[in-house]
Amino acid sequence: MEPVSFCPHCGHVLERGERICPGCGIEIVDPPRFESLSFEEVVENSFLRLEKVALRGYERRLEVARLRLEELDRELEQIIELAIPSCRQ
Ligand SMILES: [Zn+2]
Repeated sequence: MEPVSFCPHCGHVLERGERICPGCGIEIVDPPRFESLSFEEVVENSFLRLEKVALRGYERRLEVARLRLEELDRELEQIIELAIPSCRQ
């Protein structure tokens, strides 16, 4: 079986000796090696990585929502400031 390794950042499968991930473009400094793993372990590993990638997508959406909330918070503060100028001294 061909040696299999994955991008530590996005989980994309890497060819042997590949230095730049074709999935996310990150530089592979020390590619993880799975030569000694069984097929089942490699498959399990890819699923774990897929889970991680999915989780990262979820975290990104949460972060976007958080930033929007912060924006709303600032807007609300400005509205309050305009409505009641004396409350922010
Ligand atoms: Zn990658």
